[in-house]
Amino acid sequence: MVYDLELISVGKTYSDGTVAVSDFDLKVEKGEFVAFLGPSGCGKSTTLRMIAGFEDITNGEVMMMGRNVTHVPPEKRPTSMIFQNYALFPHMSVRENVAFGLDVKGTPKAERDRKVDRILDMFDLEPFADRKADKLSGGQRQRIALARGLVVEPEILLLDEPLGALDANLRRIIQNELKLLQRELGITFVFVTHAQSEALGLSDRVVVMSNGVVEQISPPRELYRRPATPFVADFIGSNTVFEGTPKGTAGSGFGQIDTPYGIMTGLGQGNETLAVVPAEAFRIVPLGTPNEILLHGTLADRQLVGAVGHLKIRLPGDRDIAVEVSADRPEVRTLTPGAPVTLGVDPASVTLIHA
Ligand code: ADP
Repeated sequence: MVYDLELISVGKTYSDGTVAVSDFDLKVEKGEFVAFLGPSGCGKSTTLRMIAGFEDITNGEVMMMGRNVTHVPPEKRPTSMIFQNYALFPHMSVRENVAFGLDVKGTPKAERDRKVDRILDMFDLEPFADRKADKLSGGQRQRIALARGLVVEPEILLLDEPLGALDANLRRIIQNELKLLQRELGITFVFVTHAQSEALGLSDRVVVMSNGVVEQISPPRELYRRPATPFVADFIGSNTVFEGTPKGTAGSGFGQIDTPYGIMTGLGQGNETLAVVPAEAFRIVPLGTPNEILLHGTLADRQLVGAVGHLKIRLPGDRDIAVEVSADRPEVRTLTPGAPVTLGVDPASVTLIHA
């Protein structure tokens, strides 16, 4: 199989000795929307710049459509990059800004004008075509940046926090447009963000990074349901992690961990020492409910936000855990602070991981 983009053990050490990225492996199929997600400084932008060719790579190889582009300059790669601050030329018109990439490639004038007109039309930018870029709103500037990135007809569009400069409302609107556009064009998108909701909402797969290493590459739902490392369990969603000693496997991928709160059974390979439970996997159940992992505690706090009840349940040893339940359940409304609570968890929603 030929991938649109393949990173093979890619690493970057800056000249001052900072190891920004190590051993990054990734295969991206044509038309996939992949997000790099992680806290500031984890190496997302460095990786994106290495893909674009703006940053030399220290080790490894970058392949595009089966071709090794590791030493190919940016303008000769089938990529186009959109920056957080858009990097528009303020004193150039919208049309000139959009035409820039085609001019760099030496596209003949007639072809250039045809492509620019088409893309301006697509982004509803025709009415502003002759206005200077610095005389436009944030949303319009965002569209110009997208138009400029797409007019060169890249196979792979690289987006570095492209919505970071927009307010929450506009961000949501443009997020939707971006997803529709990506589907329509069938272009591969690689998108950098530190905003979890953006990565999970937009992409087909998310690459979670921390400290220059890839923690997990999974579809959004799986990141939620099956975090693979303690970092991902802590960073994505709202999970409780229970520590214990492994009790070996109990068949068909289910293993057991002996914790201070009892035996936890969940999906794992065996020998794991941590059990991860998503906040929404807990339910309030009657004492003695069969086939569930049962935890006994007291209600420490309750906040009802719309349809969701956010509970803080205090376990023995004063450990407070976050629990999300439907706010419609009568027992959620009638519980008073300090009341005893039995939580049930279906073992199938528990993931066992290594520390
Ligand atoms: P992110 O995009 O996830 O915020 P970056 O890729 O920008 O992370 O940075 C990764 C690491 O590399 C950070 O420790 C950052 O300080 C460092 N870094 C980034 N650019 C340079 C540079 N030009 N020289 C030295 N260190 C750098």
